[in-house]
Amino acid sequence: METSASAQPKTLAIILPCYNEEEVLPLTLPRIKALCRQLRESHAVEPCVLLVDDGSADHTWTLIEQAATAESFVYGLKLAHNVGHQHALWAGMEWASSRADAAVTIDADLQEDEQAIALMLDDYLAGADIVYGVRKEHAGYNFFKRTTSKAFYRLMQAGGADVMHNHADFRLLSRRAMQALLAYPERNLFVRGMVRQLGLPSAVVQYNQAPRAAGTSKYSFSKMLGLAIDGITSFTVRPLRLMFYLGLIFVLVAIAIIVYALCARWSGHTITGWTSLITSIWFVGGSVLMGLSIVGEYIGKIYIEVKHRPRYLIEKEVGPQ
Ligand code: UDP
Ligand code: MG
Repeated sequence: METSASAQPKTLAIILPCYNEEEVLPLTLPRIKALCRQLRESHAVEPCVLLVDDGSADHTWTLIEQAATAESFVYGLKLAHNVGHQHALWAGMEWASSRADAAVTIDADLQEDEQAIALMLDDYLAGADIVYGVRKEHAGYNFFKRTTSKAFYRLMQAGGADVMHNHADFRLLSRRAMQALLAYPERNLFVRGMVRQLGLPSAVVQYNQAPRAAGTSKYSFSKMLGLAIDGITSFTVRPLRLMFYLGLIFVLVAIAIIVYALCARWSGHTITGWTSLITSIWFVGGSVLMGLSIVGEYIGKIYIEVKHRPRYLIEKEVGPQ
């Protein structure tokens, strides 16, 4: 592992992606700053905070600028437009990978327990390159969000994406792990799945999830569905294979129907069955369309990857030089 000189304390970057978080940042910042002071004492590390503004339309950037001016260990990165949580995390890790020995990513709304970072540091200092934050229970969300979130984990697992149950994007990565992750060239990011592929020494820290401290969720249902589809299609071709099996079943059913129809004709019965005919047409038509859309999804992914566009654009940076 790359280390700073033994006499120097290790540096830890705490990365918070922020999208329209003006309501919650005034609550988050004091808690994160207090944590930094505490970690400096308890773990003899040198922490810094990086706030990534993911193209917010409210006063988030003004708050970040104020925080960076007031404290010598707070930095801000303003992305030119909203690129989504995963890309904002990526921007934060690219910034941190050349400046810190390790980095923790945590949501700006403090749903994750920031005190668990101390435990993550224990594991990191004991040799782990990746420390996963795993929530003990799914508290802090309403029934709809809890149910859809559980359904997405199941869907992703069924689709063949490698996800750790109840782990989102609260984790510590050593510099080595960050550099290994950042070497992945894809634009279609599903960070929690990619980290699982690194295979470096890892540990797990459990935490209690809290309700959002202020403001509303920035993960709409469609954003969550998009993340699940990205998660599946960027990791596995299993849905394509499923389509093949489904098609095979339909063909077998069709053969069985032909055999049945022939037998019926030979035994003197005429087939009336308009209903069965029309339903099968609709059913097969629908299945073909769904199958095509799955293929289309993968082709769309290929299209995005070959364009090789930049993941984000940094508009401004603030912080101590
Ligand atoms: N976020 C972001 N870009 C987006 C959406 C969300 O950077 O396009 C950030 C957001 O500011 C927060 C984190 O991602 O720090 C998680 O979002 P949120 O808490 O709204 O999601 P939830 O916990 O409701 O799933
Ligand atoms: Mg949240």
